[in-house]
Amino acid sequence: MNFLEERIVKDGIVKEGNVLKVDSFLNHQMDIGLFDQMGAEFRRRFAEKEITKILTIEASGIGIACVVAQHFHVPVVFAKKSKSINIEGEMYIAEVESFTHKCKNQVIVSKKFLLPEDKVLIIDDFLANGCALQGLISIVQEAGASIEGIGIAIEKGFQPGGRTIRNLGFHLESLAIVESMDAETGTVRFAES
Ligand code: 5GP
Repeated sequence: MNFLEERIVKDGIVKEGNVLKVDSFLNHQMDIGLFDQMGAEFRRRFAEKEITKILTIEASGIGIACVVAQHFHVPVVFAKKSKSINIEGEMYIAEVESFTHKCKNQVIVSKKFLLPEDKVLIIDDFLANGCALQGLISIVQEAGASIEGIGIAIEKGFQPGGRTIRNLGFHLESLAIVESMDAETGTVRFAES
């Protein structure tokens, strides 16, 4: 098991409905030392890639993306989930269905912050059905920028997102791939890395 898998076993909680709660270290309270290890690992896995920008989605991707960005020395842009009066000018917009909240959101990025010459690394906390990622991918494509890679903390391998994204030809790296989990016993099994 790698460092993230060990932490999931130690502090993750399996909930009914295929939800893994990791709010004590990943997406509510945040363990920055752990994020730093994740950043170093993504840097190693995407070592051959030239990255100019990291793109994530609010809210829980932002913390991870910021620490990862310190390993790539590039700015972070996050897609906003609602139309903010603070966003001026033209925007890229994508529709995203939320796995945890069971609703549809529009996510938006100002055209100012994603340029055709950008080489983008997409970072997010979870990959389940892939809706969040598909939204981010469509925004990058609309901008005419290139997607150099996708880095995910926890992929739920029993849901179709990972397969769909890899089948589209993207370089997707997930630090922990959950193969199965059981809410009754609280056990989590990981795919062989
Ligand atoms: P997807 O769009 O791939 O179906 O879901 C991705 C998003 O849903 C993630 O950004 C994450 O916020 C949320 N999510 C999906 N599955 C889980 C889960 O098991 N636990 C938690 N905490 N969030 C999840």
